[in-house]
Amino acid sequence: MKEELLFCPLGGSGEIGMNMNLFGYGQPSNHKWIMVDIGVTFADDTIPGVDLIYPDPGFIVERKDNLLGIVLTHAHEDHIGAIAHIWPKLKCKIFATPFTALLIREKFREKHIDITNDLQIVELNGNVSLDPFEIEYITLTHSILEPNGLKIKTPAGVILHTGDWKVDPNPLIGDNINEKRLKEIGEEGVLAMICDSTNVFSAGRSGSELDVRKNLLNVMSRLKKRIIITSFASNVARMETAFYCAEKTGRQIALVGRSMHRIYKAARQCGYLKNIIEPIDPRDAKNFAREKIVYLCTGSQGEPMGAMMRISSYIHPDVLIEKGDAVIFSSKIIPGNEKKLYKLHNQLVKDGIEVISEETEFVHVSGHPNREDLKDMYQWVKPNCVIPVHGEHRHMIEHINFAKEMQVPNQVQVENGDIVKLFPCEKPEVYDKAPSGRLYLDGSVSVDPESQSIKDRKNLSANGYLEVTIMITPKGNIHNNPILSFRGLPVNDIDDFVYGLEEAIEKISKTFKIGNKQQEHNFIDALKIACKKYSKDITGKKPFTNINLIRI
Ligand SMILES: [Zn+2]
Ligand SMILES: [Zn+2]
Repeated sequence: MKEELLFCPLGGSGEIGMNMNLFGYGQPSNHKWIMVDIGVTFADDTIPGVDLIYPDPGFIVERKDNLLGIVLTHAHEDHIGAIAHIWPKLKCKIFATPFTALLIREKFREKHIDITNDLQIVELNGNVSLDPFEIEYITLTHSILEPNGLKIKTPAGVILHTGDWKVDPNPLIGDNINEKRLKEIGEEGVLAMICDSTNVFSAGRSGSELDVRKNLLNVMSRLKKRIIITSFASNVARMETAFYCAEKTGRQIALVGRSMHRIYKAARQCGYLKNIIEPIDPRDAKNFAREKIVYLCTGSQGEPMGAMMRISSYIHPDVLIEKGDAVIFSSKIIPGNEKKLYKLHNQLVKDGIEVISEETEFVHVSGHPNREDLKDMYQWVKPNCVIPVHGEHRHMIEHINFAKEMQVPNQVQVENGDIVKLFPCEKPEVYDKAPSGRLYLDGSVSVDPESQSIKDRKNLSANGYLEVTIMITPKGNIHNNPILSFRGLPVNDIDDFVYGLEEAIEKISKTFKIGNKQQEHNFIDALKIACKKYSKDITGKKPFTNINLIRI
């Protein structure tokens, strides 16, 4: 039987976040696999107590003996965030460029896993050989250090997996996009290109970090008092811009927030951020006049625990903000975060602090390709087939249409779990489905979205909690005074509520005698119904109810 080449996204297709892609090659039912990226998505407040979500890796865990390695494109959380959570189930080699590798090592250190022997550092534009896959890293430009596309060569043909990218003619830090190599790969022939869809609705070009720098300098030159800039810590070019503008406007700069310090340190360790002024400790910054200091801080999305939110609520221990100061949000307003973010903006402007954001000034560029950038890539690579990823369904369908406009012979629309046969075939298409889904990191345990812990907490958070403990005598008689406790119920008169509840319980108790297990169960069920009904009548709430029987 003939070898075949497959592509299967387990995450990141039909959504922006938690990227996880598989490529398979070999005889049917005996494929060798590589995984490209292993990211997370951040949970919203519809899932109480859960912060991280990642793809269910079950499909590849079952085939882990044939998994040759995890190849990482760049260090954004939607591409590496799940590595330390999922790797213990896979235990394979990991490949990453130096900056990405450094951040990964930290993730494993936090989980007390020594990854030294399994983490291999790939130099920029370097190669990884995982027979039958020959992988070549290609430097692109994006909004983080060391963004890479991957040329994946197999006996069936070449795939270009772009990862996240844009065309930035002046990325400020790191190399320019390796246009020369992309063109050469295009000349050799590309069977399929797996491509970023994030900005497919945006016309023109995505823009350059240099243009942001120029404009940010203009903006900062006119500001007279304290300046606070907030941006993603991982955007090291933007960080360098903040340092550059501080120096040019005669100000000191202080970094605020854990991830800002972490990324600064990692970038320096990898040889970046060399020609900039020394940052000062935010605690020392208090000794400088307002017009002589810039703070660069985390929390650009209005995260409740982020530095920016604490500063604007006047509870940050090191950073003071006053009327006349300015806050520059040098970051994207990520869809879904508007509410939190505008709350933060409102809090600031009402206290006389100027808010500058991408809505009012040119202080941010996206890291993803707009349509003109996509056009460039298509013309360089000339793929035979385009498979859009890194987008919601609406982005991916628009990207399919774009590929048609660009005269790409084949396009395949995928969603998580789809298995595409790229070779052998007349036309690449989805031909099978792998099990796929999401896992929630609940505390330190991975759980299914349907898990009892999540269901219980949703119930608790909406309806409150009621507990009834009842004593049973050795003869099976029910003791009269139940012990009651409740939380999260809107009770105005506690004595009244308790009195009524005791009455309701007594009414049920009178009709029961506890001789055997079945009677016990029936009693508990009847009590639950009665207590919930009583609470509903008085408070409008049907609490999560727990009944304990204690034999004395
Ligand atoms: Zn991404
Ligand atoms: Zn990215």
